[in-house]
Amino acid sequence: MDFTFPEEILILRRTVRGFVDKDLRPLEREVEEHDRIDPEVGKALRARAVELGLYAHNLPAEIGGGGLNMLAQVVVAEELGRTTIPLSRTAGYLPALLTYCRPDQRQWFLDPLIKAEKLVHYAVTEPDAGSDIGAMKTRAQRTAGGWVLNGGKCFVSNADITDYLIIVAVTDPAASLRGRFTLFIVERDNPGFHFLRNIKKMGWRGSHFCQFSLEDCKVQDGCIIGEVNGGFELIMKAINETRIHLGGIYVGFTEELLDHARRYAVERKTFGKRLADHEGIQFTLADIDCELAASHLLVYAAADAVDRKQPDMRIAASRAKYYAAETAFRAADKVLQMFGAAGYSCDFPIERMFRDARAFRIGEGTSEIQRLQIARNLFR
Ligand SMILES: Cc1cc2nc3c(=O)[nH]c(=O)nc-3n(C[C@H](O)[C@H](O)[C@H](O)COP(=O)(O)OP(=O)(O)OC[C@H]3O[C@@H](n4cnc5c(N)ncnc54)[C@H](O)[C@@H]3O)c2cc1C
Repeated sequence: MDFTFPEEILILRRTVRGFVDKDLRPLEREVEEHDRIDPEVGKALRARAVELGLYAHNLPAEIGGGGLNMLAQVVVAEELGRTTIPLSRTAGYLPALLTYCRPDQRQWFLDPLIKAEKLVHYAVTEPDAGSDIGAMKTRAQRTAGGWVLNGGKCFVSNADITDYLIIVAVTDPAASLRGRFTLFIVERDNPGFHFLRNIKKMGWRGSHFCQFSLEDCKVQDGCIIGEVNGGFELIMKAINETRIHLGGIYVGFTEELLDHARRYAVERKTFGKRLADHEGIQFTLADIDCELAASHLLVYAAADAVDRKQPDMRIAASRAKYYAAETAFRAADKVLQMFGAAGYSCDFPIERMFRDARAFRIGEGTSEIQRLQIARNLFR
């Protein structure tokens, strides 16, 4: 496989790197300390990403997005992975499900999202249904001219600041998974939307984990994305791209960790030598380097499979997400150990990276769920 990038992708990489270094990194400490991105600052960052042509980079050009292929999206993700997850989100990786909006949803819903005037988040997880989407209880029932949603969601990112949510609800409980769900656009100020709480969590400070309920939440027919009972197929299509995007983020994150580790290894001395001159430390860094190279290749291979519409892209996406997430967390643990007490302190970003990396193994399909997919494919 040839992963030589054309000049325009190299320019794109430099643009994202500049945005991260100049606009995002200087805010890392403040966001971490206050566990929020100031709304005005968030707005300005999104406006800057629009100006740079980054916002909505992952959506097709036909609907107003950047029209990048998957490999180019991974290049963007790698650069974004070098800063914190909440800050990286201001660059405008939007839910891949938006690709399936109908033309009549463009003006009122999609266009303001693509211009960063409005925000959208995706809500599937429930207190009793995470990996097991079949256990989902949120129901949507047909009424004259629309639908009524009842149920609730949890662990949904930033439902406290969003304008819209894409809600996955059961519309045909008797059907198999393939025909059971429908995707609904719900405005956050719908009177049937009830925000319950921000759930305290370990990392990803600046991004909030939210729980809410839907009580007789009325929506019009025009708020359905895709077909009635056609939600599962769209979720599955979109999830491959999201997992590969995340793989790219984790690769950039691990590169950042390795950079910190290299710098520290030449600065810090123990027993009269630089850490970098101790064989034990060299082995640690060599292991991270190899796993990182393997993650990189898996993520590129998965992106290439999507771009060439290969039938094995789903498994390629699972391999990439699983391996890159595990590598990032292992690397964070090893680098923290290498930094000693300094790594555990808040003087360096390593403790933050350790906490942040822990979530990589859980969100958008846990590592176990990726491994189940991969194993099932082996026995197919
Ligand atoms: C940082 C972060 C952001 C998130 N943002 C969102 C969001 O914006 N919107 C949203 O809807 N959700 C979001 N989530 C929720 C996320 O999608 C779920 O956490 C994930 O799907 C796993 O579900 P669960 O946490 O309920 O774990 P469970 O499904 O309860 O699983 C518990 C454990 O059992 C394991 N397990 C489950 N089934 C099996 C099996 N068959 N075999 C082996 N092991 C198994 C799992 O891997 C896991 O380790 C987010 C999560 C995180 C961590």
